[in-house]
Amino acid sequence: MLHHIGAAGGVAAVAGAMQSMGWFGAAHAATLEPMPGNLGNGRSVIVLGAGFAGLVAAYELEQRGFSVTLLEARGRVGGKAWTVRDGDTIKMQGEADQVARFSEGLYFNAGPARLPSFHQGVLGYAKRFGVPLEVEVNSSRSAYLVGKNGRKLRMRTAINDMRGHVSELLAKAVNQGALDQALSVDEKAQLLPFLKAYGDLEGEYEFKGTTRSGLRTSPGAGVSSFETAGAPVPLSELLANEQIAMMGFEDNLYMQATMFQPVGGMDQISVGIERNLQQRAVLNADVRRIRQSASGVDIAYIDTGTGTARTLKADYCVCTIPFPVLAGIDANFSKPVASAIAGVVYEDSNKVAFEAPRFWEQDQIYGGLTFVGGETSLIWYPSWGLHGERGMILGCYSSGPPGKAFAQRPLTEQIAMARAAIESVHPGHGDECSAPLVVNWRKVPYSLGPWPNWTPGARGRGEHAATDTPAFRLLNQPDGRIVFASAALSQTPGWQEGALASAHASVAAIVRQMAERSVTERSPRAAAA
Ligand SMILES: Cc1cc2nc3c(=O)[nH]c(=O)nc-3n(C[C@H](O)[C@H](O)[C@H](O)COP(=O)(O)OP(=O)(O)OC[C@H]3O[C@@H](n4cnc5c(N)ncnc54)[C@H](O)[C@@H]3O)c2cc1C
Repeated sequence: MLHHIGAAGGVAAVAGAMQSMGWFGAAHAATLEPMPGNLGNGRSVIVLGAGFAGLVAAYELEQRGFSVTLLEARGRVGGKAWTVRDGDTIKMQGEADQVARFSEGLYFNAGPARLPSFHQGVLGYAKRFGVPLEVEVNSSRSAYLVGKNGRKLRMRTAINDMRGHVSELLAKAVNQGALDQALSVDEKAQLLPFLKAYGDLEGEYEFKGTTRSGLRTSPGAGVSSFETAGAPVPLSELLANEQIAMMGFEDNLYMQATMFQPVGGMDQISVGIERNLQQRAVLNADVRRIRQSASGVDIAYIDTGTGTARTLKADYCVCTIPFPVLAGIDANFSKPVASAIAGVVYEDSNKVAFEAPRFWEQDQIYGGLTFVGGETSLIWYPSWGLHGERGMILGCYSSGPPGKAFAQRPLTEQIAMARAAIESVHPGHGDECSAPLVVNWRKVPYSLGPWPNWTPGARGRGEHAATDTPAFRLLNQPDGRIVFASAALSQTPGWQEGALASAHASVAAIVRQMAERSVTERSPRAAAA
């Protein structure tokens, strides 16, 4: 039907029909409705930034017939999806350059490193473009929770001993009638056997330890070496470990198994999308000026390879440049939009990577995270290259206020702290960690931060708290012919899936604009009729 409308009334008529059918709903809709492949014929779009949002927007616009120019300031695509390999240089504002010196095959995902199963959008692009994935081991029951006193709890011990103690307490409460108001007789009768199984309780609902938490004696050959459980860690000791709540990290929806990573580095999905663009991204194109008028947009950029200044014109612009960077670019945005852009506050996030012989595998750890808290927050073990000679290990991945304090330290101190965190968990191995690299995202040019905090100072707002502020709403709307797209404008600013959702919304917004301009943009054929 849409093709018939298009033949009679041109692109604007198609867009108008789609709008009236409700195909362009909320500005931040997560999916892109099917649209005819010729919808954008004769219309041009300049996309600023070839991070995930820009790549997805460029690809989807091309699929709908638009002529797209994708400008990227860096010499690579992917934006924050940045995989550092041997020989790469890390530049940060106010810091000396760092050059990666890794053994063959090693790499470091400085930004995104994991994909949850339910991020079907990103996984879908990986599948469409043949980007091979492998499992990312995001949690290991052999890893540790490390208290401030240095006491290490194996994750399996923390999780299963806590389950045992809590199950015993709950069973006691049920049997003493403390929950009679809350539970029926039948529910009590059903809950007790569940608790017995859940907590591995014995006899009259007592928790005396469980092999789930690890073994005191391991099973061997013959009858002389049976498997036995150790005594449980007392509840008081579990509770005293400041990291105990992190035993639930793997239950966070975004962190649940099965998680994935592209083989060879996170940038591979971005590279795969770019490879499938009809018009490949223009790299080293540092956008310096953004102008729009009633008839179109003018973009000026410097080719940083040659120093040449260039300008381009188009009907529309999708701008994915991170807001702290955009705030410094000469643009004629409307006043409210300019002040909203200037007001977006970005967080801190840091990673410190080393390469090392795989000593963690001798401690039964194959991937996953050890939580140490403080400014370095955690140790992250690699999921790939198991049983190889060497691997990448992170001695720090910290965000929020601890991350902010960490990033203010000299790089040498940051490296020393990350190494010390590894040494405290794996004594004798801190010095085996070599080739350190630090990434403080707030200092990275063309990013100036990992993700925004739309409500700075608000208490109790986690990374995934719903965002709805006036500035967020405003920037989710086009400013004239310029449409903003970015993970920062989604409800998951810390995930590529959010960038994808926002990119899809930007495509819908451009088509909606065409519908709104239907009188002036009617095709010549329709106008003649
Ligand atoms: C430390 C960290 C960990 C993360 N972990 C995960 C994870 O595990 N999984 C996950 O899915 N996501 C993760 N994310 C989030 C994910 O990286 C982002 O949501 C996503 O990459 C953002 O894409 P974007 O296109 O919105 O922005 P960007 O990637 O920032 O893209 C913007 C683009 O604009 C370009 N640009 C900037 N200035 C100019 C200019 N003047 N001219 C031209 N181009 C310009 C930039 O170079 C960049 O390519 C993580 C991010 C960080 C920082």
